[in-house]
Amino acid sequence: MPRPRFYRRVAGSPFCTVFKPAGIPVGSLAEILLTLDEFEAIRLADYEGKYQDQAAEAMHISRQTFGRIIESAHKKISQALVQGKAIRIEGGEVEVQGMRTFSCLDCRHTWNEPYGTGFPGNCPACRGLRFGRADSGTGLRRGRRGGFRGGQNQG
Ligand SMILES: [Zn+2]
Repeated sequence: MPRPRFYRRVAGSPFCTVFKPAGIPVGSLAEILLTLDEFEAIRLADYEGKYQDQAAEAMHISRQTFGRIIESAHKKISQALVQGKAIRIEGGEVEVQGMRTFSCLDCRHTWNEPYGTGFPGNCPACRGLRFGRADSGTGLRRGRRGGFRGGQNQG
């Protein structure tokens, strides 16, 4: 009997999906696959410094599951560093929260912010205040306006 699938909530896709050691031809480079839930666990716990139970809550999973995911993520990253492998970030059983893309007019930096976190205070790269939405709403899947059209009167 298959286990039910639990989708882990992640805030978005990583800025960059492949990291590779410099100076090694791609053909002879081994790759380690880091799933998006593992990436998110690293982002929450290591990058943002959240406690594991907070991070688990943010991803809608149990603390035990979170512990397993981050352990696996740390192991993979250590292998990449020690053995000189590339890291590709993709896949995993995740539900990606919509992201908004912002672009800075001063330094041309673009970055993503999840929905529901408010308008960012300033550009994370140059701390400038002249920036705006760069995605014109493409990040959010919208419902069709005007409700249902036809199909209701099948006679
Ligand atoms: Zn900037």
